[in-house]
Formats: sequence, C-alpha cells, structure tokens
Amino acid sequence: MSTEQPYSYRGRELVEPDWTRLPGWRDVSATDWESAQWQRAHCVKNVRQLRDVLGDGIAERFFADLERDQAERATMSMLMPPQMVNTMIPGVAPDEPGATKALYDDPVRRYMLPVFSDRRGDWPSHPYATRDSLHEHDMWVAEGLTHRYPTKVLAELLSTCPQYCGHCTRMDLVGNSTPQVVKLRFGAKPADRYEQMIDYLKRTPGVRDVVVSGGDVANMPFKNLEAFVDRLLEIDNIRDVRLATKALMGLPQHWLQDDVRAGMERLATTARARGVQIAIHTHVNHANSVTPLVAKAARAMLDTGIRDVRNQGVLMQGVNADAHELLDLCFALTDGAGILPYYFYMCDMIPFSEHWRVSVDTAQRLQHAIMGYLPGFATPRIVCDVPFVGKRWVHQLADYDHEHGISYWTKNYRTSLEGDDLDALQRTYAYYDPLHTLPSTGQDWWRQQVGAEAAGDHAAAEQAARSSREAAHAQAAGA
Ligand code: SF4
Repeated sequence: MSTEQPYSYRGRELVEPDWTRLPGWRDVSATDWESAQWQRAHCVKNVRQLRDVLGDGIAERFFADLERDQAERATMSMLMPPQMVNTMIPGVAPDEPGATKALYDDPVRRYMLPVFSDRRGDWPSHPYATRDSLHEHDMWVAEGLTHRYPTKVLAELLSTCPQYCGHCTRMDLVGNSTPQVVKLRFGAKPADRYEQMIDYLKRTPGVRDVVVSGGDVANMPFKNLEAFVDRLLEIDNIRDVRLATKALMGLPQHWLQDDVRAGMERLATTARARGVQIAIHTHVNHANSVTPLVAKAARAMLDTGIRDVRNQGVLMQGVNADAHELLDLCFALTDGAGILPYYFYMCDMIPFSEHWRVSVDTAQRLQHAIMGYLPGFATPRIVCDVPFVGKRWVHQLADYDHEHGISYWTKNYRTSLEGDDLDALQRTYAYYDPLHTLPSTGQDWWRQQVGAEAAGDHAAAEQAARSSREAAHAQAAGA
C-alpha cells in the first residue's frame, strides 16, 4: 500500500506544439497560423489531405484504417482545423520511430479521427442506439428550438461547425452526410427559423435561459449571431444566454479576430446594462488541446465583459475516462486559460459509439475520484443525459440493474412532450451501459433480446425488458 496521494497536482505551463514538425506545414509562418482565414482554408477534410500534412512517416495501414472507418462506420465526416491537427502527437515528428503507434494512441485522434480498428467488433452499437438519441427533434417547439427543461431552451441556429467530432450527439443533423448517415436538413430558411424562435420566446415567459448553439456559433457570420443575440437581449424574460462553441479550442483564431472581439464586447455591454448574463460554453476533452492560443482566446472573451467561459467535455474511453486525465484537463482549463470546468457528459447512445462509452458505474467511480482536488465551484459534475429526462448527475439514479446494464432514472419536471401526462413524474426512464462491460450472463440476455427484436417479436423483447426491470426493483427493495 502506498501513502501517496492518488493524484499529485503540479502547475503546468501550456505549450503550443510546433506545427513545423508536420511536413505539410513546415513553411507556415506564425502570422498565417494565427489567421482564422488561413486555418479555415487549410482544414483537413479527407484522408489525402491528412496524408499530405503528416507525410510518409505514418504507416499506410493507419490511413487505410481511417478510410475504412469513413466508409463503414463514421457518423461524422472528417473536418479538423490545423490548430486541432497540431495537438495530436504533440512533440512527435511523424517520421520519428513510433509515430504511428503514438498517433493510434493519441487521445485527440481517438475522438476526432476514429479508425475502424477503434470500434468494437462484438457490439459496435448498442441495440437501442438511435440517431437523435436525446429526442431533441421531438421536443422542437419551432424548427431547431428544443424545449426540454421548463426554464431553458436550446436554439440550434445552424448545422455546421469548424470541426466535426466523431462522437457528436447531434450526428443526425450536424455536418455532411456520410456513407452511413444521410443528415437531416432544416426545412425553413434561417431568417424564418430565427423569427419563429424569437416569437416563441416572447410568448413563453417561463423560459429564462437560452443556449445558442448548432453546430457551432463560430460558423455563423458574426453580424448574424450578434443580431440574434441582440434580439434575445430585448426579451424581458431572458436572463441567461450561453453561446456554444467548440471552436474556442478548435479554432481559437476565430475568437481572436478584431471584429469578433469588438462584437462580443458590444453584446457583453448590452447584456450587462440589462442585467443578463452571457457566457461561452466550449467543449474540450483533453489537456493537450489547451494551448496558449486557446488560453489567449478564452481570456480575450473574458476581457470583453462576458460572465464566464465554461467547459462541457464528453467522457470517453481512450480519451479521458481516467481520473488523472480528467484532473489534468480541469487544471489546464482553470489555471492556464481561466475556463471553468463545468460538466462532463457521458457519451450518448448514438450508433457506433460503444467503444467510447463507459458504464454509469465507471462514471460514478470517476466522479468520486476527482472530488476534493479542484475548488468546489470548478469541480465538474459528470452527468448522464437520460433520454426523455435530461441531464442527471451520475449518482442520482433510482435503480441499477448491473447484470443487464440498465439504470433507471426519475425526473422532477415535464418536458414539452408531457404537458398533459399525469404519470410523467412517477415513471422511471432507462439508460443503458455499453454491453461489452456486462457480465457474460447480461450479454447473453441482450443477445436474446436482439434475436427477439430481429424476429419481429417486439412484445417479447419489451416483456423481457420489463421483467428485468421488475427484478431490479425487487432487488433494490430487498437491499
Ligand atoms: S463541435 Fe459540437 S456540434 Fe460540432 S461536431 Fe463537435 S460535438 Fe458536434
């Protein structure tokens, strides 16, 4: 037994990896690198472009693995700004011995450029995985406006981002179609959709909080974003506005542009005068992504007078599902960049995500392991986004059937789907662990359910699920 602390804190200086180690960007100047236009024009969008950047040092089998994934598994098309590409294998030149293995093992690569061999062969998807796993579209009150919680809405202004993450929850809508997934498209024109959203918010005084999202708001011409947020700020009941942008990390150059900074300053000034809080919510999953340029962009945003910059990461196996990785990331965010660690979401049940997902049990252990190191206000909550419920802290479950990997959750509000449902608050809602984490008896049980469903016997499958749930209840009651 060791008496050492499980985690030892050490302040770390942020580092911008040297992009000239990558053959394709050997001659790129600092001026070009720091230009948002240059970054956008040199995004990596396909295997050929990635090969051009990384050169011949990376083994061909890696590119073949990536190509196969794009054809047979990917739910998101490839899109990575140079800023993000440069945070993979930091400090390693692609022609060094071991670079291919380092690339395979790299945490940023694992979620931004998934390869076929990353995915599970036994259970690549959970049987209940769905495209819109959180049923956000079912809760649209205007096209792209999800009203799930009583006081909050999510406004999806656009369906593109400067970077596409392999695990994107909104894979149904966001990004380009892939061979596996034909993307949904908004039907109405953006201006009409925004008008309908504003109209709904004006006539719904119970809503006080708007998450302005997409996609990523960094892909909207700033004047259009500013015009929309200005209209939100005119609505008396809106007290909180959060702008969702992973690009603060993926393309910090965007947020460092003079016109964007000036525009954010105008918005922050108006918001302050009206007593409204504006914050930026970003999405960083690993400490390697927090570079000096990211810190500079976050501080530039704080300097405009907005309330806060907060991080909502996603918990993923092979990326950050480890207490040390999570704490390293949180300290890099808060010490290095002034970004508040806020949430880690469990990876949602979209198709082909099983290799990233962890069980609720693992999430609970991770939450326990990261407590006590960060200030309380900067200790992130690990949350499970339970379909038809919403975000629940991972310790909030009502029941847990470990054998079958089914957790049961309750809620204390009605979503927009249950306005007249008397039983909504008495019901329990299920969430499912990745099947490869279950004991063999649990996996066998699921194989039978999949067989029954495949044979069209939905009633039998539903009955089996119900019996399993009742057994879990009985077990919980007897415990
Ligand atoms: S930035 Fe957000 S919305 Fe865009 S692909 Fe990544 S997870 Fe999806």
